[in-house]
Amino acid sequence: MIAKRIEQLAPSGIRQFFDLVLGMPEVISLGVGEPDFVTPWRIREKAITALEEGQTSYTSNKGLFGLRKAIAAAIEKRHKVSYSPENEIIVTVGVSEALDLALRALLDPGDKVIVVSPHFVAYPGLTECAGGRPLFLVTRPQDGFKIDLKELKRLLAQKPKAVILNYPSNPSGVSYTRSELKSIWRAISQSGAIVISDEVYEELSYDVAHTCFASLDKEARRRTILMNGFSKGYAMTGFRIGYACAEKEIIEAMNKIHSYSMMCAPIGAQVAAIEALGCHNEVAAMVREYKRRRDFMHRELNRIGLATHRPQGAFYFFSSVRKFGLPSMDFAKRLLMEEKVAVVPGTAFGQEYEGFLRMSYANSLENLKEAIVRMERFVKKI
Ligand code: PLP
Repeated sequence: MIAKRIEQLAPSGIRQFFDLVLGMPEVISLGVGEPDFVTPWRIREKAITALEEGQTSYTSNKGLFGLRKAIAAAIEKRHKVSYSPENEIIVTVGVSEALDLALRALLDPGDKVIVVSPHFVAYPGLTECAGGRPLFLVTRPQDGFKIDLKELKRLLAQKPKAVILNYPSNPSGVSYTRSELKSIWRAISQSGAIVISDEVYEELSYDVAHTCFASLDKEARRRTILMNGFSKGYAMTGFRIGYACAEKEIIEAMNKIHSYSMMCAPIGAQVAAIEALGCHNEVAAMVREYKRRRDFMHRELNRIGLATHRPQGAFYFFSSVRKFGLPSMDFAKRLLMEEKVAVVPGTAFGQEYEGFLRMSYANSLENLKEAIVRMERFVKKI
């Protein structure tokens, strides 16, 4: 009954594992990839008012013009890159939908897409659903999980249609300086590939000022589909608002699919997103708290023996547990059963990451402290 390419699609490694966690009381979850903060009140209030005012209709397919204008202004202000709100921006149901639309708009059957590993779980699956084939650019712990230019060039020689970049990265937390991104762009610019730049963790940058890929130069802007959204930086996962910015031709192609499959993002959430773009203090307060937790956890994880790079952004640690000699899944299952701490096995983010775990620090400092006590007890007895 089911189409072959869907039957062959691997289920998300995260979901599989979290089916286990469901229903277990007293678990401290370092598993989920979403802020523990509730959306700032100002933003929620706008959504409530929109409902009270009876704003319950469809919007234009590409999203409320007011939101597209606010997005364009924010990008111009932060990164000095201009996008026309008329035809170079589309508001989507999360970055998830923007990714799906971009891949479906770009790929013909069999087209290749470079996916940098360890990678966000959705990239390979969405590529395959769109008829494409992922080419994995494996990054290594000894390089701090940064892209190796030689490896990038080797894969670019296979003529991929697109390269998906994600920084700050889920799951490694890696980000790049402007000059590092320029080197990456120099390599890509010599190929015909389009860059899909997923910058959804932009606001959560702690050490390196975020550089928007499209801001590198005119040609980078022309060849990039910039993706961002409100889920992470504004603690708005449930609102489901993301967006893509690109040349008109690409946005129109994405909008063709979007107008048949989704029509538009929900109006109340779009109204709330306009308010979010003005919430600088609220975002800064969350960022300060994530940074505090990052510093604490980074020190403590290394102290108890989980070799961990210092993430520069997002809210994850990608730690090695190789020295304990347990496969990631066994380590994670035993940690869950014996100490009630939920983490995600590294293999969910690429086959090469056996012996790694992803841990989210989108959790209270109090819970993180308790998680460290439990993990220390666990590693001492294995
Ligand atoms: N991109 C990355 C790298 C993510 O980690 C996530 C969510 O975890 C998404 C996109 C999806 O975000 P959204 O909630 O905007 O669909």
